[in-house]
Amino acid sequence: MNSPVKKVRFYPTFFKFFLCNLVLIFLLSGCIFFFSFKTLKGFYLRQLESDMKKVALSLSDIFLPYMEKMSAAPLNVQPEINRLAKKYGKRLKIRITVIAPDGTVWGDSERSPQTMENHANRPEIKGALKRQSASILRFSATLQRYMLYTAILISKDKKPLGYLRVSIFVKDINELLERLKKQLFELTITLSLIASLIALVFSKSFSNPLALVMKAVSDIAKGNFKTRINIQSQDEWGQLARHLNEMAQKLEDLFNELSLERKELKSIMERIQAGLLVLDLEGRIIFCNQSFKLFGGVQLPRGNDTLEGRFYWEVLRGADLNPFLQKIRQKPGNYLEEITIKSNIYLCSTTYMKRRKQLVLIFHDITPLKEIQRVKRDLVANVSHELKTPLTAIRGFVETLLDMEEEPDKRHYLEIIERHTKRLDNIIKDLLILSDLENKKELNLEKVNLPKLINEIQTLFISRIKKKGLLFVTEVAPGAEEIKADAFQLEQLFFNLIDNAIKYTPKGKIEVKVTPFGEDKIKIIVSDSGIGIPQEHLPYIFERFYVVNKSRSRKSGGTGLGLSIVKHIVQIHKGEIKVRSKLGKGTKFVVVLPKRL
Ligand code: ADP
Repeated sequence: MNSPVKKVRFYPTFFKFFLCNLVLIFLLSGCIFFFSFKTLKGFYLRQLESDMKKVALSLSDIFLPYMEKMSAAPLNVQPEINRLAKKYGKRLKIRITVIAPDGTVWGDSERSPQTMENHANRPEIKGALKRQSASILRFSATLQRYMLYTAILISKDKKPLGYLRVSIFVKDINELLERLKKQLFELTITLSLIASLIALVFSKSFSNPLALVMKAVSDIAKGNFKTRINIQSQDEWGQLARHLNEMAQKLEDLFNELSLERKELKSIMERIQAGLLVLDLEGRIIFCNQSFKLFGGVQLPRGNDTLEGRFYWEVLRGADLNPFLQKIRQKPGNYLEEITIKSNIYLCSTTYMKRRKQLVLIFHDITPLKEIQRVKRDLVANVSHELKTPLTAIRGFVETLLDMEEEPDKRHYLEIIERHTKRLDNIIKDLLILSDLENKKELNLEKVNLPKLINEIQTLFISRIKKKGLLFVTEVAPGAEEIKADAFQLEQLFFNLIDNAIKYTPKGKIEVKVTPFGEDKIKIIVSDSGIGIPQEHLPYIFERFYVVNKSRSRKSGGTGLGLSIVKHIVQIHKGEIKVRSKLGKGTKFVVVLPKRL
């Protein structure tokens, strides 16, 4: 069942987005509030100035006749002017001041003109003289308060009659502006709150799909491929959700497929007859199959414990896999070796998985095969041993009969019997040597002097060498005179190689060379200029009873066992043997042995 992502908690994106909107809203509201108040204030003041001017102009009609009288014939109408100023000032709740052209105050609604100083220097009066009318906001020296003054020049026939000044207290203006400010502030706050609410809803609707997608992606990343996103909209979010759902579906399919394949593979690995063990380079078990668990030396865990994760030596008693691990660590590659676990013998093939740094070991139980081999070996050894005594007797009597017999026909038959008995004797001797090598558990290691050994063997073959007229050259280079080995086996090695070289070289030269090889090895080269071995036979010549040319081998007394013995000796001494040969030109055997085994 697919699980759609429904509820998600808020993510920082929401808060960031919402906070950003809030900051913007309040910043803009603040700006709008500030500039609109400033504009409104300016507009209001301009309007007030114009209204004051209108009031001054209206009042000028009342004061004009009196001012005319004051300037034409100096009649004392000043008290009348003052009375009118007080009357209209009170009525209109404004201050009215009437000023003579020279600045003398004729009348004032607030004070007695006699107590007032000359007003010619007042900025509004100066302004009115220049521009007919002027408005100014300033401190009143008379009333000791801030006031808005508007003065107009009153003239008749271009003759200035004086000034009419109307003024109101700034306090009144400020009160009005404060009220305006308060209302504007309330409006701004209300609008900001509505905008914030809209921003909240918008931020939520914007961040919700993001949070859904985030949650789904994190679920998928955790391996829950059944996760689906439920966004139905047709916008980018809807498209993204659909693409992610498709991706999750594909991942789920792929994962299921892989899991199935893995399960199948695991069940195959579990069921194969060979024991399977996967180790890391420290020797910790990564996997092992049922067959491995049934091995004699394996200690199965109790209860629900698994073998995986434990070191192999805690689990597998009586088996040492360390040489494998060491080999792999030194030179990663694939190896094949025999290994004994309890009473069973296994052919163990190892494969190194470089990428995973793991070692796969497959154990094939070859105990029955080994048992058959052992029985065969024992039989051959027993038979050879049993045949040896009667054969020696037969050979001895045939030789005696040959010495006594004069008749050519009988001598011919006796010679054939002697030849075959000799061959049979050779085969039995070789078989006994081979079975001796195979059964030998330990080598009799001793220091062997190679020049001496080669010399002794040369003596054994001297008559054959002379008979064939061969040139026999030996050379032991300094540093390769001595080797620690099984003296008898080393003698067998040289004997067989030199015996073959003489056997298969009709004329020419035989060379035995020993040189140091690296720091702790020696190289033995036995080469001849004989008949050579065809290339196709080279891979098989070390096999038992393998002969290239049967009739020739029989004639020369060959058994097909000589090189098997040599190979066996080389292997026991942890060495290597190689052969190179050219038909008709000669053969070269190269043996490399460790100096101190
Ligand atoms: P054999 O007793 O027949 O010599 P070996 O096991 O010693 O058996 O050798 C196997 C075969 O390898 C021989 O039959 C021979 O054909 C070939 N062979 C071995 N050594 C030489 C050599 N030096 N020159 C040519 N052929 C050789």
